[in-house]
Amino acid sequence: MRSAARNLETVMNDELTGLASVEAARATLEKWQMQAAEQGKTAPVHAMLLGLGRFDAVNLAYGESVGDGALVTVAQRILHFSEDEFEQGDWLVARLGGGKFLLAAHEACSRERWQWLAEALADAVAHPITGLDSSGTLRLWPRIALMRPAPGEGPALIFDRLGETLEEARTKHGKRVLWSDGGLTVPGRRSALVDADLLAALDRQEIEIVYQPQVSLSDDAIIGAEALARWQHPELGRIGASQLFVIAERTDHVAQLSRHIATRALTQAATWPVGQRLSINVTPADLASANFADEFIKLVENCAFDPENLSLEITEHALLDNLESSAKTLLTLKAHGMRVALDDFGAGFCNFRYLKILPLDAIKLDRTMIDGIGSDERDLAVLRGIMAMAKALGLRVIAEGVETSEQRAIIEREGCDYYQGFLRATPMSNAEFIDIVTG
Ligand code: C2E
Ligand code: CA
Ligand code: CA
Repeated sequence: MRSAARNLETVMNDELTGLASVEAARATLEKWQMQAAEQGKTAPVHAMLLGLGRFDAVNLAYGESVGDGALVTVAQRILHFSEDEFEQGDWLVARLGGGKFLLAAHEACSRERWQWLAEALADAVAHPITGLDSSGTLRLWPRIALMRPAPGEGPALIFDRLGETLEEARTKHGKRVLWSDGGLTVPGRRSALVDADLLAALDRQEIEIVYQPQVSLSDDAIIGAEALARWQHPELGRIGASQLFVIAERTDHVAQLSRHIATRALTQAATWPVGQRLSINVTPADLASANFADEFIKLVENCAFDPENLSLEITEHALLDNLESSAKTLLTLKAHGMRVALDDFGAGFCNFRYLKILPLDAIKLDRTMIDGIGSDERDLAVLRGIMAMAKALGLRVIAEGVETSEQRAIIEREGCDYYQGFLRATPMSNAEFIDIVTG
């Protein structure tokens, strides 16, 4: 797993989850504060402590291995949430022991944003956990304490105050999210307002599309880019793609959002240099809607984008309900020249039936598969197995989340065709993308 303590020279990790340890968290917070002090400033730090209520009961009821599995799942959810929301910023996720996790960000952020992030994170952690053992579904009840440390409040004080606030949230107030200064929060109000705002945001053009280049491994040429959505919320700041889709799902607006994003991306990409490919994410909900293929083909035509240069990435967060009808929809789109890639391959469950039934051109390896290939023999073995299978099925392979030149060298050696990752480029504006492919 990627180190969760960014920019830390001596990485100290929690053995179970791979997150930063208490010591590492303390060192990072001190470093932020010292750097700011040297410039005569106060570090703009925000911190939250997430506690899993009655976690001991989980260990007692299901056994320690299920308990450990749940902690690892929660750690991964917090890590992914932070990667999506803070991207390249300075942030830190640590486990402070037991079922307590610290998330801190070194950014000037409004009180509203920090609270919204806490509510969204609590939702993400409360989501049922499945597949830990035969016991079925596990539900955890997170509470979160929030604070913005005052000047001079070092890590020890921050940990203490957050711990006390968490305890208060549980015993006194029965609240899910509580500020350490006692500031009043109306539970869920933020989320409700944001939910209500989504449709208006489409009209106000607050949904931005950024593009992350995809690169051919054989000659390092940029072959195209994946369109990724961001919501520039007027009060809360930038909301990442995963949360944006969580909100859209909750409010039943996935279809509108997807259409809005596709229209913008296709219109912009129609002005790209000839031959550059556009990759668009398609959700299972999109595929399940009856007229999707016809409407999508019309949309591509209206935007004057050449369908031969279009790839659809089928995101597999949920199982496709009806594989046969999804396959039919995809065949119609392919008949118009589009290509289809199976996204997030190797993340969570792997459904090999997809490979048999869906008319695919490529698979896109999830970044969790790429993470360990330089250091872990088993990760490399899994990559080799998947490469052999992809080649046997005549599928192209694109690797995602490539961050180091070592990872790049390995995937090239193992026969991947393309890659996408911070090593080459982070997601960028349309103008920036055009600049790097023309310049
Ligand atoms: P995804 O399709 O797997 O998108 C790739 C995600 O990995 C992006 O996060 C990207 O910023 C991130 N990423 C790329 N390279 C690296 C790297 O080297 N290291 C790390 N740590 N991360 C990297 P993003 O933009 O937050 O998107 C999250 C997910 O939200 C996407 O995962 C996709 O499933 C969904 N999504 C994003 N935009 C759209 C959209 O327009 N439509 C739909 N349906 N889903 C979208
Ligand atoms: Ca994708
Ligand atoms: Ca992916």
